[in-house]
Amino acid sequence: MRRTYVLGMIVVAGVVAAAAANLGAQQQPAAGGQAGRGGGGGPALGKIEKVADNLYFIFGAGGNTGVYIAEKGVVLVDTKNPDNGQGILDQVKSVTDKPITHIINTHTHGDHNGSNVFFPASVEIVSQENTAANMQKMAAFQEALNRHGLPDRTYKDKMTLLGGKDAIDLYYFGPAHTNGDTFVVFRNARVVHAGDAFANKGQPLIDRNNGGSGIAYPETIAKAAKGIGKVDTVINGHSPVTMKLQDLVDFGEFNRLFLEHARASLKAGKTPEQAMMDLKLPEKFKDYNLTGGRGGPGGNFGVIFEELKGN
Ligand SMILES: [Zn+2]
Repeated sequence: MRRTYVLGMIVVAGVVAAAAANLGAQQQPAAGGQAGRGGGGGPALGKIEKVADNLYFIFGAGGNTGVYIAEKGVVLVDTKNPDNGQGILDQVKSVTDKPITHIINTHTHGDHNGSNVFFPASVEIVSQENTAANMQKMAAFQEALNRHGLPDRTYKDKMTLLGGKDAIDLYYFGPAHTNGDTFVVFRNARVVHAGDAFANKGQPLIDRNNGGSGIAYPETIAKAAKGIGKVDTVINGHSPVTMKLQDLVDFGEFNRLFLEHARASLKAGKTPEQAMMDLKLPEKFKDYNLTGGRGGPGGNFGVIFEELKGN
């Protein structure tokens, strides 16, 4: 016990120093920023919905929370905006008596890890290593009382959590929404939780302050669609309904066409607004929401132009 205590003190001291060094560098986007839902708005916490055997998701109050009932306990994927821990727990309790043993955070945003701190320190929190580093800088985790909401375990490119029929594969394919987006694959159920790398059918948020990239985005999604193995169903970061693997494939193509148009438009001396206005997409993207929200009338072209210019 004594050794644990001493190590804990060293970790806390290191963290305080790191936090001090990082002060002023925090540019977290507003929680709940997806699809223009900002501030206190956005849909309320929904009822738990079944996706497959032992697998559920809870919509609203931030990003979608995945709920996987493994043999020894429940694995959550993302914990929504702050102050939704009890609401998540109540929904989980409506389908199982098992305790929550793990939380996987798909990325660093507060609408996906905001209620981590509600859960006891004994719950193991897992994320990609860049996300863990990004979370270390979040204002929400600076207080000593909240440090247990940070990841306990990280990986770089791939890791498998649990085993046998419960195996959950975590993959990182490169920068997209941030530089630490995890695709969580429930192997037996053939379902992926894609987080905000694929939040919904529309322009993704490209959070360059947390290492996101509009240039890498299409390639990262294409790699994911190929690399996640046998998957039928997608739980998105913010969609109220699940999607199919083909939707993820199409979303990769959407981002590729968007980037190609950005390159051509920048070369032609167009503004982001002009690029947005003359963007033409194939018929299959007709249900994509390209108006409203992201980036104003220039959409994502503003942020992608800056990245293309090397800024
Ligand atoms: Zn996000």
